[in-house]
Amino acid sequence: MSFRLYIPGPVEVSEETLQAMASPMIGHRSPEFVDLYQSIQPDLQKLFYTEDPVFISTSSAWGVMEGALRNVVQKAVLNCMSGAFSDKWFDVSKRCGKNARALSYEWGVAVKPEDIRRELESGDFDTITLIHNETSTGTMNPLEEIMAVLREFPDVISIVDCVSSFTVLPIEKDRLGIDVLLTGSQKALALPPGMALLSISERALERASKVPDRGYYFDFHEFKKNHDKGMTPSTPVISHIFALKQQLAVINQEGVEARYTRHRLLNSLVRDWVRDRGLSLFPEAGYESVSLSCVSNDGSLDIPSINNYLRENFNAQMDQGYGKIKGKTFRINNMGNETEASIREYLGFLDQAIEATKVTA
Ligand SMILES: *Cc1c(COP(=O)(O)O)cnc(C)c1O
Repeated sequence: MSFRLYIPGPVEVSEETLQAMASPMIGHRSPEFVDLYQSIQPDLQKLFYTEDPVFISTSSAWGVMEGALRNVVQKAVLNCMSGAFSDKWFDVSKRCGKNARALSYEWGVAVKPEDIRRELESGDFDTITLIHNETSTGTMNPLEEIMAVLREFPDVISIVDCVSSFTVLPIEKDRLGIDVLLTGSQKALALPPGMALLSISERALERASKVPDRGYYFDFHEFKKNHDKGMTPSTPVISHIFALKQQLAVINQEGVEARYTRHRLLNSLVRDWVRDRGLSLFPEAGYESVSLSCVSNDGSLDIPSINNYLRENFNAQMDQGYGKIKGKTFRINNMGNETEASIREYLGFLDQAIEATKVTA
């Protein structure tokens, strides 16, 4: 039994993408692979708004989130924390044996640029991690303003996760001065899980040169050395690269600006629905995500029953909230290939499910 996914990752994958994944295999050291690899670089660089190469990692996003720490942290890392993924990054820093400090907020509260400045002025840090869009709480951090502060600290390497915002809205890596920008495959890109993309500044590569225990699998210099030959360090997830090429063609056909506009429109449809139903969004006002909506459960919703109703009647898989706010919130995705029709249809399903499972006092 398979369910139509309305969750914020993995998101629903199109039939065309699945077909592309079934392409016949090629050798990863063959000229055919080099052609494939090099053919998608210009599109990837355009979407990352960068002149730097874009590397392909055979791992989920966490692979490169951990790998980035191992490549650049020498002195200490400041981990901005405000939800499940960013909290975990602090934990991962410590597990890598790095000197790490938390800049911590309540879940749903946005990271504030002035707090970052205050922390970095101590001179203690050479690295910072930031999640642009905290998927667990549906909160979007003010990247433009945060990067303006980080540019005041050129010795601090910025590692930015845009797993659930890449191609939802422009994230201009070079203009903003992001050193390491990384994303995964199964959220905004609407590919199956298992692949990550990352682009690294010259400064971050230089830093990595001075860090001894980078390991092998996620070593920035291994990525770069192989990239220069149109290859990846180890055997990559070639099926995903075929699928990525297909999705890039879809993105180009739609036009990247039209894609951003579509995401805004779909997001506002969901927000209107939330307001019209007397519900509210979980994040701090003004920092609501454009990729997904995290809705507070005011107590009127029996979310497990709504979930069962959607599965049984509409073959639809909803999100029931993440981590410690599971049940207190639920999330509605608008990333990937969603359309006005698919979002309206899903909101209609939700209405019926809410009506059918109403909590009676
Ligand atoms: C999903 C997600 C991740 C982790 O992705 P994995 O594919 O599980 O490694 C990291 N950051 C954000 C913001 C995410 O939404």
